[in-house]
Amino acid sequence: MSDARSRGLSNPSQEAQENKNKAVIVVGAGAAGLYAAYLLAEKGVEVVVLEASEVHGGRVRPLANFADFPVELGAEEIHGKNSIYYEIAKKCEARLVKYETEDYYFIDNQLLDAKTAKENKDFNKAMKLIDTIGKFDKEDMSLLQYIQHQGIDESVWHIINAEVANEHGTSAERISMVGLAYEEQHWKAGEDNFILADRSHLSVFNTYFKDILPKIEYRQVVKSIDYAEDTVKVTMQNGYIYEADAVIVTVPLTILKAGEIDFVPALPSAKAEAIQKIGMGAGMKIFLKFKEPFWEAKTGSIYGQLIPEYWVSSEGKSMHDYVITAFVHGKNAEYLTEQGISAVALIIKELDEIFGNALASTHLADSFIMDWSKEIFIKGTYSYDTVGIGNSRQILAEPLKNAVFFAGEATCTDGHHASIHGAMESAERAVKEIGLAWERK
Ligand SMILES: Cc1cc2nc3c(=O)[nH]c(=O)nc-3n(C[C@H](O)[C@H](O)[C@H](O)COP(=O)(O)OP(=O)(O)OC[C@H]3O[C@@H](n4cnc5c(N)ncnc54)[C@H](O)[C@@H]3O)c2cc1C
Repeated sequence: MSDARSRGLSNPSQEAQENKNKAVIVVGAGAAGLYAAYLLAEKGVEVVVLEASEVHGGRVRPLANFADFPVELGAEEIHGKNSIYYEIAKKCEARLVKYETEDYYFIDNQLLDAKTAKENKDFNKAMKLIDTIGKFDKEDMSLLQYIQHQGIDESVWHIINAEVANEHGTSAERISMVGLAYEEQHWKAGEDNFILADRSHLSVFNTYFKDILPKIEYRQVVKSIDYAEDTVKVTMQNGYIYEADAVIVTVPLTILKAGEIDFVPALPSAKAEAIQKIGMGAGMKIFLKFKEPFWEAKTGSIYGQLIPEYWVSSEGKSMHDYVITAFVHGKNAEYLTEQGISAVALIIKELDEIFGNALASTHLADSFIMDWSKEIFIKGTYSYDTVGIGNSRQILAEPLKNAVFFAGEATCTDGHHASIHGAMESAERAVKEIGLAWERK
């Protein structure tokens, strides 16, 4: 049996002195796990991070050697300035940029720029629906039901699906209007989106968490967490056992849904139900590199059908590599994941329909599929609110016996789920909860 307490840390503050004999196990080395470990180490608590895979970062992962600029397989944008992660990226001297680009819409078999699309009354109705989601005050229903209820013309459903449901990790028939409105009302991070112009998110993590990286134990697949006694025992797939005063579980929601970690005693039924109630499913990013651009300069997003949203990832970043990212969630992602490598041909076919003249197929140079549902330790992209979700996120976040604490993006209760900064905020909350629990003892 290995004891997390055997690894030493020194910190001169009084709090650190008080915490000197305390040890915490963090499960998962994504944004939440790394930030939780960072905050605990700052307080003088001994910490070990158990990570199932061979790498840290979780849903933050760069794609190497595909283009001459940083390509992100997972998280890409920093959503808003009022966030822990925006501050961290700034401290690490990352160049944060907000590109001014133009969006395009494929409506009735025509590719329209935003100005032309605004001449279409159905498009304007769709935009109005999106802008007023925060005011939704009816009984919960899916976004698709609401679209139908509002009499939106079918020719523009895919745009609402793309800008709202796909962005939130699913498709319109699965996402909750109450959840979307709640998020809109509670979002505090700010409206501007930034990307890192000159480095990957993982390189920011590597800079900021450099003192935490040596505390990560890789290839440690947590199989059970026993919190029946005073100390918590965490057992690995290989039979190895770690023991500590507390554990913070930051694994993706899908891992809990699949029951991959046994809790002893078993999870309370309300928590088990909450885990199933919150949504998280298939999602893919498909990267398409072309020999030359066939789109207008300064193109941002292009809204399609099979692929709800494409965007030109090389815009403003490269003069040599021309890359479009296809981003798909929900039922179309489930369909494409079954197609395997053939998904690329289907997507290129749609781009040929959008741009005409077989422009996409004749210019395709390379492609890469990132299918997050096939990542065995992630199994999806990010959590979303299902119809009738209620307070499931609060229930998921509740600690067990002041010994097992829950963090990770799905545990955010303030609308910041599905983001890097939300994952970090959840870590901050869990670390505070541990502090309060220890004060009470
Ligand atoms: C395609 C995509 C696009 C995104 N776009 C954005 C964006 O633009 N902006 C943004 O802010 N966010 C975005 N996100 C969301 C963001 O990436 C996540 O919210 C955040 O990274 C989640 O961090 P986490 O620590 O909660 O979980 P993770 O990063 O998933 O970390 C959990 C860790 O637990 C490990 N683990 C799993 N099972 C076990 C086990 N049994 N034992 C030990 N370890 C285990 C996993 O390997 C993983 O490393 C995107 C995500 C994806 C996938």
